[in-house]
Amino acid sequence: MTDPTSRRRLEYLEAMGIQAWTLRPRSAAVRDVEARAAAAPSAPAQQAEGPIAELPGVAVSVAEIPRRPDVSRLDWDGLQTQVASCTLCELHRSRTQTVFGVGNRAADWLVIGEAPGKDEDQQGEPFVGRAGQLLNAMLAAIGLQREQVYIANILKCRPPNNRDPKPEEVVCCEPYLRRQIGLIEPGIILAVGRISAQNLLQTDTPIGKLRGRVHRFRDTHIPLVATYHPAYLLRSPVEKRKAWQDLQLAVRTLQESGS
Ligand code: URA
Repeated sequence: MTDPTSRRRLEYLEAMGIQAWTLRPRSAAVRDVEARAAAAPSAPAQQAEGPIAELPGVAVSVAEIPRRPDVSRLDWDGLQTQVASCTLCELHRSRTQTVFGVGNRAADWLVIGEAPGKDEDQQGEPFVGRAGQLLNAMLAAIGLQREQVYIANILKCRPPNNRDPKPEEVVCCEPYLRRQIGLIEPGIILAVGRISAQNLLQTDTPIGKLRGRVHRFRDTHIPLVATYHPAYLLRSPVEKRKAWQDLQLAVRTLQESGS
């Protein structure tokens, strides 16, 4: 007989499209994840905010980047105001509004996606569309309500037609996210999707190789786990099992760090 908590978890996993709990004995699944984590060394610490040319696949000259205001000492209100009036890149012309971020500002968990889509641009909140619903289910599967975590994106403005962010847009927006990370001081960062993981880790390694192990965010000790983007999981549900493994890895990493 399953207790109510386990039943709820099963329901969430079902919402994610995962039946791993019933298909495999729990101890085997746990051993599997532990073995992977033990076999995969942590990536070396990343450099502090490095030269712009170090960003993945980027050939952006400094001349293309407008002078960015120093936001490194702003409080939440100051930062939000600065973001709302940002005109550093072209995206400010087509946005309905900026999408600053949402959630618990003292969260252990910081979830970072790519950029607002149509729904997010209209509502001013990250991950409110279909991908957001799956993200909520993923969080619920590890016992987290959306309100308990903080959710932000690499970009604060929607790229037209949901195209990939341009390097210069990422560079313009980066200080805002860095300040959010500094204010939150999360116990773990969950990078969802290729764009998020590659930019946060300053690499062009494919997401399939970045997921499944624990990195550190830049020059900090903050652990970072990368996983597939929920929008990708909606298109490729077969990968949900790996995303579930990544979530479990993140949970264990946070637990082991004592946060
Ligand atoms: N995809 C993202 O990466 N972020 C959002 O906020 C919405 C969809």
